[in-house]
This record gives sequence, structure tokens and C-alpha cells, in this order.
Amino acid sequence: MNNDLAELERPALETALAERGHQRFHARQVFAWLYRHGVTDALAMTDLSRELREMLAREFTVSTPSIVRRETSVDGTEKFLLKLADGKLIESVFIPDTPAMTFCISTQVGCAMACAFCLTGRMGLARNLSAGEIVGQVRVLATALDMRDRPFNIVLMGMGEPLHNYDETMKALRILADDNGMGVHPRRVTLSTVGLLPQLEQLAREPIMPNLAISLHAPTDLQRGELVPINRKYGVAEIIAACKRFPLRKRSRITFEYVLLANVNDSPEDARRLAKLLAGVKSKVNVIPLNAAPGIPFERPSDAAIDRFARILAERGVHVSVRKSRGRDIRAACGQLIVEGPRKSPAQQLAVIM
Ligand code: SAH
Repeated sequence: MNNDLAELERPALETALAERGHQRFHARQVFAWLYRHGVTDALAMTDLSRELREMLAREFTVSTPSIVRRETSVDGTEKFLLKLADGKLIESVFIPDTPAMTFCISTQVGCAMACAFCLTGRMGLARNLSAGEIVGQVRVLATALDMRDRPFNIVLMGMGEPLHNYDETMKALRILADDNGMGVHPRRVTLSTVGLLPQLEQLAREPIMPNLAISLHAPTDLQRGELVPINRKYGVAEIIAACKRFPLRKRSRITFEYVLLANVNDSPEDARRLAKLLAGVKSKVNVIPLNAAPGIPFERPSDAAIDRFARILAERGVHVSVRKSRGRDIRAACGQLIVEGPRKSPAQQLAVIM
């Protein structure tokens, strides 16, 4: 039995209360305290009986990541370095006005996917985050930014590959969606993935359905295999086929992220191939000009090359946007989150998955 309240979905908390001779409905109040009011001290949950408060304080803990460092970019983006109960570090990012307020949340400490242009991939995977740690980032940011009563979107685009930590990620989405707690509707959440096929199929059957973003980055297996190693296991055609089957809400589209790398995947031919590949998929393309970093063996294309690529897509009827890089001065931009060295090399870890 888990005695960390941060790890419990409401039904599990109801059961835990019932097992201790308390009424199940008090779980709703506890959720409101934890997630709406940001109160983690059970003794301060003043609408509960004293007996219940004391039982909770005695038998349960509430783990919350602590803020080690907080950096603000010139563009208002804020990067949080957070410490977990076991001392491991992760990063979470607040991106204001995009046009909504957005929290960019991590799902793993590090990442095993080893994408060629991504700094997090250099870390390798240290471990999965628990659902409580994923939701905990949202609790911490909402409190630190004084945003408890304001709407925000969540993108699972921080460190880690969410579908490589499937169960805890889905559990986190259920806790976030709970109306008694934060009530973040799944339509305000975007899950970004390299396209782990079995988990993508599983996601298609979930009752809780976030928006989907696929990190595609190249239109052919030959190119994508070099950039996203897992492509050698789950290829472009299979991913596109799974996307075509993916159930979508009315008017919603799958986002395809495409990190644009000078002279690697930014040619007019690449753009035409991409447009052809996505014909028949309810899609939009988000072009992300590379955020360069020391040790990343690629270059950002010129503005002219970026425009040309986007224009060819648009001319072929593809919905396309170019992602404005946010927080680059504090290394909070896409692919720039990194905190500590790997145990095993990323290549060794990836070999296990493939
Ligand atoms: N693992 C998931 C979630 C991370 S999302 C995924 O890959 O989708 C982070 C996004 O930033 C991904 O689309 C990733 O490909 C992109 N990215 C990684 N490194 C980058 C870089 N150096 N410049 C720009 N985007 C990058």
C-alpha cells in the first residue's frame, strides 16, 4: 500500500480511507486541498474532522519536488530545476503567452531515446518518474507562479519519452483531470512522442485522450533512422498508419514536430516528401529550427531555408507553423534540458529497448 498521497488516484484514496474506517467521500476534500489549494499538510485541511486529519498526518506523506533553482529568460520563459525525494534532478519549464500559459513537464529523469540532436538524450535514462512526480511538477509550478486559479496548458515535452513511461504518465493524466483536484481536461494536455508503436496503439484506446504530437523530423526511414534511433524498430510508414487510425476529437489534428537541421532534412525535396507523407492524415506540422548546443553535431538552417521549407508545405495544403524558440538564453528551449551524467551510455540503454 502506497502511503504517499501524491501517488494516489482518487478511487485509490477512497479505498485507503474506507480501509481505515473513514467515509470515501472525504477523498474529494483531500483532493481539493492538495491540488486546488496547494495544501500538503493534512493537519491544515480544516474541513476534515480532527480524527481524520490526524490519521492522514500519521499514516501518509505527501512528496513534493523542491525547487533548487529558478531562472527567467528575457522572453519571460522560466526554467525550474527540481529535486526529487531521492535527490535526482529534473527540469520543468513555464512558457507564458503561447498564446495560453503552458507548463512543459518531464516524464523521466533523462531519456533513453538518444535522438541525435537532443541534449536530454545525452544523459541516458536514469529512471522513470512516478505519477506523483509528474503531477508534482504541475503543483510546484502552479504554486510558484501563483497560477492556481488560472488556466494553463500542459505539454509533456520536457525530459523523457512519455510513452516509455506509459503507466505512470497515464495515471498522472487521470490525477490532473480529476474535477475535485486541478481539473485539467485532457484536451489541454499534449503528449509528445517519438512514436513507440505498441504504446501508441494502447493510447488510442484510452478513455483519457490527450492531444498527440509526433516527433517525426524526417520523411524517410533512411533519414529518420539516423536522427531518431528507435525508428529502426518502428518505421515512418507504421507510425503514419497508426496516426491515421488514431481517434481524434472534432476539429483536432495530430501535430508533427520537425526539428529542422541545416543540409540534413531541410531541402525542398524533404518538404515535398513530407507533404506527400501527411496527405490523408489530419495533421499540422510544427517546424522547430534546431536549438544548437555545444556537442550537438548539427546546425540551425538560415531563416531563408526555414521559410522555404514552411512555404513548400503550406503551398501543398499542409497546416504549418514555425515554433518560436523560447528560453534559449537559459537553455530551457526544446532539446536543451539536461541535468546530470548517465549511468550506462545512452547507446547501451537503447540497445535494451530495441
Ligand atoms: N520524447 C518526446 C518528448 C520530448 S518533446 C519526444 O521526442 O517527442 C521535445 C521536442 O523537442 C521533441 O520534438 C524533440 O525532438 C525536440 N528537440 C530535441 N532536441 C532539440 C533541439 N536541439 N532543437 C530543437 N528541438 C529539439
